[in-house]
Amino acid sequence: MNKQIVFDEWIGRARKKFEERNPKSAMMYEKAQKYLPGGDTRTATFFKPYPVFTKEGKGCRFYDVDGHVYIDFLNNYTSLIHGHAHPAIVKAVTEQVKRGTVFATPVESQILLAEIICGRVKSVEQVRFQNSGTEATMHAIRAARIFSGGKSKVVKMEGGYHGTHDVAEVSVCPTLEEVGPVSRPRSVPNSSGIPKSVCEEVIVVPFNNKEVTEKLIREYQEEIACVIVEPMLGSAGMIPQEDGYLEFLRDLTRKLDILLIFDEVICFRLGYGGAQGLYGIEPDLTVFGKIIGGGFPVGAFGGRKEIMKVFSPQEKSFVPQSGTFNGNPVTMEAGIASLEALAPDVFERINSLGDSLIRGVDLAFERSGIKGMSTGLGSLSNPHFSSERIRDYRGVGRGNLEAMHLVHLGLLERGINIAQRGETSVSTAMTEKEISSYLTAFEECLAEVKPFIEQTAPELIQ
Ligand code: PMP
Repeated sequence: MNKQIVFDEWIGRARKKFEERNPKSAMMYEKAQKYLPGGDTRTATFFKPYPVFTKEGKGCRFYDVDGHVYIDFLNNYTSLIHGHAHPAIVKAVTEQVKRGTVFATPVESQILLAEIICGRVKSVEQVRFQNSGTEATMHAIRAARIFSGGKSKVVKMEGGYHGTHDVAEVSVCPTLEEVGPVSRPRSVPNSSGIPKSVCEEVIVVPFNNKEVTEKLIREYQEEIACVIVEPMLGSAGMIPQEDGYLEFLRDLTRKLDILLIFDEVICFRLGYGGAQGLYGIEPDLTVFGKIIGGGFPVGAFGGRKEIMKVFSPQEKSFVPQSGTFNGNPVTMEAGIASLEALAPDVFERINSLGDSLIRGVDLAFERSGIKGMSTGLGSLSNPHFSSERIRDYRGVGRGNLEAMHLVHLGLLERGINIAQRGETSVSTAMTEKEISSYLTAFEECLAEVKPFIEQTAPELIQ
């Protein structure tokens, strides 16, 4: 039996069903391809045969051009913590738009958003705003290189995602054939176009593996400017730290005089003070994005004044960091409204809904007789078809992604939107009712794909 042929048959049938349900999206996709390579401008949102085109969204639901309604568990890749068109954000932004959208002068709302972030995150005394998480990680790494006195190497986790600049595009989703030994992961460019010289500047270490991480960091310690890590690996599959890995990283980097950067672009939604508040760890620099922009393009990085001051033009030798839309008042107002609606008890509520979802998915796997689990924390999670406990990128890679792709299309058919790889997030617009709808649909999908798993991956049948 050829597993690929069986998968092609199953996914072919699922895609045909999808096409029959989504003729208007098909027409739009056809036209889109004429002007946009691949019909869109975001790789992450693409799946075959084509993504649905959205008409509008409200709360935790959105409506596509074919008239289907979806409960949105993707939330624009976790960024819409309040779902779509939250009234306070709409009001704040509408009022600001009437007063002007951007000025080549600072505005007061920028101070207010910075004050809110610094007030919530103990390790952050000052911030700089950008328009994306990509820009923010790029500038944070630059700041670290400057503060280190010109050291250039960057340590990152295998499977860690930090945006799309060159350094960030190393070992994001390499195949298991190209990763190299776990004792010394290869620095694999995510695509052609990433210079070899950039890969040489990036030391890739396995998340949650203290022994290898310490060995490699010590080996290159004289050349390393910083270690950048997501407190929970997000895009790789929502993998939380184990056995005090983050604390270990904090201790080691402090000992070796290397800056530690927490990329909290996703994880900041784990609690009032972000993931670092949850774990009680203070990195040197923190990167923010997504929820601090209330649904508008945003990025920011911050840390201690002694590091951040290099960006002040008041300093004799300062580092320029510009952007036409940096700190624009529309994003700032949206960000303020978003964070003001996130009091500690609100995090508690969505984290508890997220816990129900994680437990429910685990139970659904158990009841279905298929080996699998949900990883994650609080409002963030990801189901995996796997018989091993997932603790790093390679563990996810050894899982059954084909089954996940089938479940993704199955969930869409049932009005549930998650990422193709399974990234799932809960928004404040949700209640137990939506969690229950998700779990019912998930259970139905498991029953649907069970014969496929029995045929192609019997080791996943209990
Ligand atoms: N860091 C992390 C952890 C992310 O998840 C992302 C985006 N998903 C980024 C950085 C890049 O952010 P942006 O897409 O806004 O450039």
